[in-house]
Amino acid sequence: MTKQFTEEELKKRLTPEQYHILREKGTEAPFTGKYLDHHENGMYTCAVCGAQLFSSDTKFESGSGWPSFYDVAKSSAVTLTPDNSLGMQRTEVSCASCGSHLGHLFDNDPDSPNNQHYCINSAALDFEPKTKK
Ligand SMILES: [Zn+2]
Repeated sequence: MTKQFTEEELKKRLTPEQYHILREKGTEAPFTGKYLDHHENGMYTCAVCGAQLFSSDTKFESGSGWPSFYDVAKSSAVTLTPDNSLGMQRTEVSCASCGSHLGHLFDNDPDSPNNQHYCINSAALDFEPKTKK
């Protein structure tokens, strides 16, 4: 089921930078995001709808300047779309629940255990720490 949010509501709720990235397919400046050097255990969620997207278990250091994951929490969590903008062949990653732009997927990263590299904007994510019991 796709969650619908009005753009007006999202403009109020998100920061201007978040809105630009999530709804206008922007990209944050590298090495600036709040989740780049973030190593807590837990789940990264969509900043718009809260869907669970990436587990901290799959986060790795890519050196790209953006939070990087080698897998998604579950394959149905994101939508992959070919993106040939800016003269590059890339795959756009967006939230399957609400359609918001998250980042890009690259499949040739030697730093990744499986060559898959989900390069995701910090501003597109929220974080739920794993509760210790
Ligand atoms: Zn979402």
